[in-house]
Amino acid sequence: MKRNIELEKLQRNVIDCRKCPRLVAYLQEVSNHKPRRYRDWDYWSKPLPSFGDPDARVLIIGLAPAAQGGNRTGRMFTGDRSGEWLFGALYHFGFANQPNSLQSDDGFKLDDCYITATIRCAPPKNKPLPEEIENCRPYFLEELDLLKKVQVIIPLGQIAFTQTLKSLRLKGYDVPALSFGHGKLYLVSRKFPTPVGNGLKPFPTELRTISLMTTYHPSQQNTQTGKLTRAMFHRIFRMVKKRLEVEG
Ligand code: SF4
Repeated sequence: MKRNIELEKLQRNVIDCRKCPRLVAYLQEVSNHKPRRYRDWDYWSKPLPSFGDPDARVLIIGLAPAAQGGNRTGRMFTGDRSGEWLFGALYHFGFANQPNSLQSDDGFKLDDCYITATIRCAPPKNKPLPEEIENCRPYFLEELDLLKKVQVIIPLGQIAFTQTLKSLRLKGYDVPALSFGHGKLYLVSRKFPTPVGNGLKPFPTELRTISLMTTYHPSQQNTQTGKLTRAMFHRIFRMVKKRLEVEG
């Protein structure tokens, strides 16, 4: 896997970020009040960097780290129930080398896939405030620029979907009002100027199209109630595979 120095620098900045005082205080509180089952863990309790293959064609966007999951282990979705579903599906469809990951040093690797989130600090009750989402958005916008090969974006759940649409609009994508549901596919495009010599062509000429796939979030709330079944979740990744075949 090739390194992307800019992306690595961005993730180091994320780890140092303290823009949201409520979340900084909450992370401290979480590590001061660990549940018994995790009392021997040295909690990460900082913003979580995104991770994966910098040449990925598939970008997955979570909502926020789980206080006792990724926030404990130091890697998104690692050691939590949603991660068990997500990593299981990624392994099944060839995007990961292991069916699950419980700690960040267990050799788990993504291939052709990158995982990020709407916000990178665990919020109380899994509910980020609108201003916290806005504080975190610039990191995602920068990732969109740096992950140049992304063809398919999968926001997990409705909030991530809504926020992804907003970010894509800010990046100049032509995104109409789109409805959320499970298993929908939308194509969104943008034109942007092509560099020529030292300047830019006067009119936008290059086109980039992203396939946006919708899915319910693999949260326990959805998976334990049957709102999201394994078959439904895997159907999304079958659609992703098909899309990648079509787009090449
Ligand atoms: S949620 Fe994002 S912007 Fe807020 S402190 Fe964490 S990393 Fe920084």
